[in-house]
Amino acid sequence: MLTAHQIRLDPNNVQATYFARAAGTARFAYNWALEEWGRQYQAHLANPNLPKPNEAALRRQLNAIKRAEFPWMLEVTKCAAQEAIRQLGTAFKNFFAKRTGYPTFHRKGVNDRFTLSNDQFEVQDKHIRIPKLGWVRMRECLRYKGRVVSACICRIADHWYASITVDTLEERLLPPSENQGAVGVDLGVSNLATLSTGEVFTGSKALRCAQKQLRRLAKAVSRKEKGSHNRHKAKRKLARQHARVRNIRSNELHQASTSITRRFHTIGIEDLNVKGMLGNRCLSRAIADMGFGEFRRQLEYKAKWRGGHVVVVDRWYPSSKTCSCCGVKIETLTLAQRHWTCQACGTTHDRDVNAAINLRNMAVSSTVSACGGEGAGPARERRVKPAPVKQEFNSKASFE
Ligand SMILES: [Zn+2]
Repeated sequence: MLTAHQIRLDPNNVQATYFARAAGTARFAYNWALEEWGRQYQAHLANPNLPKPNEAALRRQLNAIKRAEFPWMLEVTKCAAQEAIRQLGTAFKNFFAKRTGYPTFHRKGVNDRFTLSNDQFEVQDKHIRIPKLGWVRMRECLRYKGRVVSACICRIADHWYASITVDTLEERLLPPSENQGAVGVDLGVSNLATLSTGEVFTGSKALRCAQKQLRRLAKAVSRKEKGSHNRHKAKRKLARQHARVRNIRSNELHQASTSITRRFHTIGIEDLNVKGMLGNRCLSRAIADMGFGEFRRQLEYKAKWRGGHVVVVDRWYPSSKTCSCCGVKIETLTLAQRHWTCQACGTTHDRDVNAAINLRNMAVSSTVSACGGEGAGPARERRVKPAPVKQEFNSKASFE
């Protein structure tokens, strides 16, 4: 199984300059190939005898001219340009499959990065060897054993990181979950996650807390003269604050998803339409702040590592409105109603816990029916119900 470990690098000034230059080369090659692609495609339309553009041909073409036209490219690893064009090929593949829009040009300072193929670098303890540069210090050792596939050197705020992809050759990287039971996880805006056991992960809402400061810093950037040193400094400050928010959020998502997958084998969650929910202006910031899509991704891969599994319950299943005691569904329940009492059996429910219990029950029934071989349990039936195409696309896009 492919998995990546992102490690902070400790480059000296010479090495940091090399990284910036290699990232610049990668960006230049990508933008050059994108422009060339458009030009060759137009030429192909005008004269169908000319071949359609493709990434392999573009790489050969750049190799043929780089010595004469872009001699500075030779100062950094050849991977920077080659892998960038390969990535453009992937971007076009995604575009043709209608997963993304037409590839756009890369901007300086936005996602500065370059990729190394596995024959071009070497990892030893806390060092990584970069071609035409030498050994660079890493903050920690590579966590996974297996075949190293590739490495991406990227800049986040003003630090450099190496994201090393490893093929671990085995599926289960962690011991099985302690409790082989099932749990339902209800994702919410006021609390990140509520478990069917009643446990609550509040989530720190990092962005909301830092919003005031982010706004102040963004304003400071816009007040500085363009191209000035002060503007550059203000930009760095803003980027650091954004990185801080991201770190806080990522930390709490990881802690929650690890805590859940460590204890439970079967996890039921709702198939949230995150993209649709982000369209709601009142809630969008709170939802983006929580990082639901990322949370679900983490639950899924961490469960897989422990041999557990995540059951995704259909989006239209009324998990909040169904009584978890008697199964009666109520008609109306507003978002503001945190508690409600079932008319049929008289139980008073906490909205989120009730939803989580329903999700757990759905997860259990779907596993039973899957194991029984009948494949006719209620949850299973709902999941295979053909959904409108647009919806499928949305749910995929928001979780990829
Ligand atoms: Zn009831």
